[in-house]
Amino acid sequence: MKSQLDPKVPVGPIEKKWQNYQLKSQLINPANKKKLNVIVVGSGLSGAGAAATLAELGYDVKCFCYQDSARRAHSVAAQGGINAAKNYQHDGDSVYRMFYDTLKGGDFRSREANTYRLAELSAPLIDHFVQQGVPFAREYGGTLVNRSFGGVQVQRTFYARGQTGQQLLLAAYSQLYKMIHAKKVTMYPRSEMMDLVVIDGKAKGIIVRNLVTGKLERYAADAVILATGGYSRVFRLSTLAIGCNGSAIWKAHKKGAFFAAPSFTQIHPTALPQSSEAQSKLTLMSESLRNDGRIWVPKQKNDTRVPKDIPEEERDYYLERRYPSFGNLAPRDIASRAAKERIDAGYGIGRLKNAVYLDFKHAIEKFGLDIIKDRYGNLFNMYKKITGIDAYKTPMLISPAAHFSMGGLWVDYELMTTIPGLYAVGECNFSDHGANRLGANSLLQASVDGYFILPNTINNYLADEIKSEQPTTEHQEFENTEHEVQKHVDKILSINGTQTVDHFHRELGKIMWQECAMSRNKKGLKKAITQIKQLNKDFWTDVKVTGNQNEMNTELEKAYRLADFIELGILMCEDALEREESCGAHFREEYQTKDGEALRMDEDYSYVSAWEYQDGDFKLHKEQLEFEFVQPTVRSYK
Ligand SMILES: Cc1cc2nc3c(=O)[nH]c(=O)nc-3n(C[C@H](O)[C@H](O)[C@H](O)COP(=O)(O)OP(=O)(O)OC[C@H]3O[C@@H](n4cnc5c(N)ncnc54)[C@H](O)[C@@H]3O)c2cc1C
Repeated sequence: MKSQLDPKVPVGPIEKKWQNYQLKSQLINPANKKKLNVIVVGSGLSGAGAAATLAELGYDVKCFCYQDSARRAHSVAAQGGINAAKNYQHDGDSVYRMFYDTLKGGDFRSREANTYRLAELSAPLIDHFVQQGVPFAREYGGTLVNRSFGGVQVQRTFYARGQTGQQLLLAAYSQLYKMIHAKKVTMYPRSEMMDLVVIDGKAKGIIVRNLVTGKLERYAADAVILATGGYSRVFRLSTLAIGCNGSAIWKAHKKGAFFAAPSFTQIHPTALPQSSEAQSKLTLMSESLRNDGRIWVPKQKNDTRVPKDIPEEERDYYLERRYPSFGNLAPRDIASRAAKERIDAGYGIGRLKNAVYLDFKHAIEKFGLDIIKDRYGNLFNMYKKITGIDAYKTPMLISPAAHFSMGGLWVDYELMTTIPGLYAVGECNFSDHGANRLGANSLLQASVDGYFILPNTINNYLADEIKSEQPTTEHQEFENTEHEVQKHVDKILSINGTQTVDHFHRELGKIMWQECAMSRNKKGLKKAITQIKQLNKDFWTDVKVTGNQNEMNTELEKAYRLADFIELGILMCEDALEREESCGAHFREEYQTKDGEALRMDEDYSYVSAWEYQDGDFKLHKEQLEFEFVQPTVRSYK
C-alpha cells in the first residue's frame, strides 16, 4: 500500500495534461488483453460504461449489481440533464469556462487537473451518446437544445425531458448487453459485493452474496472496479432509491482504501418536503425547474393564506433578493441554505412549515402553458401523482433533501484508490466536484469515468499485472475473507433483539440531518459522534432481523448495509469536525461572513482530507491542492 498520497497529475499545461498522459501510458496488445480479467461492481452509468468499453477493448469482464436488472441502477432516476462545453448557444461557453465554473462551484476543494479533464471530455461525450441514439431534446430545426443549471451563466445542459438519466442508462445498458451477448461480459444481477479480497497488497477479487439464494460466492480478477454510486442514504431520507448504500466502498475502506472528504454531502434545494415520520424516501423535483420557476416565501411569518391570495409585494423572492446575478439559479448549497434560513426563521410553508414555494405563474404567463408543459411536463405529472396538486395552477412546495455525495474513495488521476488494482468510478469516488457539485455534472462524471478515462488508465496497471499469475479463488485470502463475511452475517442474525433495522436507520438519519447536513458546528458534531457510537452499540445488541441467510432476505440486506452506514456516519462527523472552515456544502456555523456566507480558510484547509481506517479509528492524510492555473477567489453569486 502506498504510504503517501500521490495524485499522479501529469506534467504540462492544463489543456495538454490528459493528452500527455495518454501518450505516455502503457498499452497492452489485444492477445494479452483476453488473458486479463476485470471485475466491475455496479451497472449504473459509470459501471455499465466501464464494463462495456473494457469488454470492447478485449478484457474478460464480470459485472455485478444488486438489482434484478443492470438497467435499474440508480442513474435511471436522474432527471434534469448532463453538462457539456459545446457552446451551441454561442453564449460564451468554453472548456476553460466549464472547468472554472466547476472548480469555483466546488469552492476550490477539488483537483484542478481532474476538473479540467471533466470539462474537456464533456463535448465528445455528447457526440458519443448521440451516436448511441440518446434522444436529447432538439430545436424544431433538429439541433440539440440546452438549458441552464445552477451556478453557471451559460446554457450547457443537454437533456431528454425530465428523464435524462433513464435515456443515458438505456444507451449504456444496450452497449453492456451487446457485450453480454458477445460473451465478453458475464453479468451477475441480484449479486451483492460483501467484501474485497486483497492479496499481497493488491485488489484481487470480491466475495459476493447471491441475493436470491443467500449463498456466498468468490470471484477472482486482475483488477476490481467499484462503480457503486452514492451514499446519501446515510441520512435515511434522501432523494436516492431505498437500495442505494455505501457498503462496497466502506468495505474497501476497511481493507485499506482511503476515504476522501466523507462529509461533503450535497443537500438539494428542490425535493418534495417530508410529510411524516414513517416516510422512508424523498422525491426530487429536478433543478431544471429553477430555469423557469421562481422560489419564494411569504414576507409574513406563519402566513396561512393560499398562495394566490398573497399579493406580489408580500412575497419574498429570497434568492433573487440575496443573489441578484444568479437569482433562482444560485448553486445548490447556497439555495438549500437560503431555504433553511427562511424556514428556520419562521417563514416556512406547508403543513409541517418545512417548505418554500416554487412558482411557475410568471413563466406560464410569459411563455404559455404549452411551452412549460413541453419542458417539464413529466415533472408536473409526477408532482400531481404524489401530491394530488396541479402545479400549473398553484406553486409547488419544495424543501431541501440529502442528494449526492461529493466524498467517496480517494482516487488519483488514474482513478485508482490507495489499494493497487482497486479503482473507483462515478459517484463512489471523490474526484471532481470539490465541496459542492454543480447540477448536471454528475451524469457527466459517471459517464466520462466509465467510458473514457478508466479504459485508458487501467492499462497502466494491467500491463505489469500480466506478468504475475492471477490467484485462484482457492487462495487462503479468499477463504479468510469469506469466513469473515459469514461471521458478520451470522452475528447480525443471532442478535434477535427488539428493534427493527428501520428504527436504527431513522435514529441515524435524525442525528445526521440535525448535526451533519446543511450546517454544522463543533458542539453538535461532537455530540453526534457520541450518539452514533451509542447507536452502534444498541444496534449490535438490540436489532431484530427476521428470516435467515439462505433465502431472499431484504431485512438482512438492510441490516448489513445499515451497520456500514453507522460506521460511515461517524467518519462523516469526524471529517466535518476536523475541517474548521466553511466551504461549499460544508457550512461550519463558526466560520461565516457577516452576511452568513461560507468563510473559507485557504491557508489551513486547502487540501483533500483522505482518511485511513485503523482498527475502528481513522487517521487523516492530506492531499494538498495546488492551484497552478486558477487563483481561488471568494465564491460570490451576488
Ligand atoms: C433523483 C436523482 C436525480 C438526479 N439527477 C441528476 C441530473 O439530472 N444530472 C446529473 O448530472 N446527476 C443527477 N443525479 C446524480 C446522478 O444520477 C448520479 O450521481 C449518477 O447517476 C451515479 O452513477 P453511478 O454509476 O456512479 O452509480 P449508480 O447509477 O447509482 O449505480 C450504482 C450501481 O452499483 C451497484 N451496487 C452498489 N453497491 C453494490 C454492491 N455492494 N454489490 C453489487 N452492486 C452494487 C448497483 O446495483 C448499481 O448498479 C441525480 C441523482 C438522483 C438521486
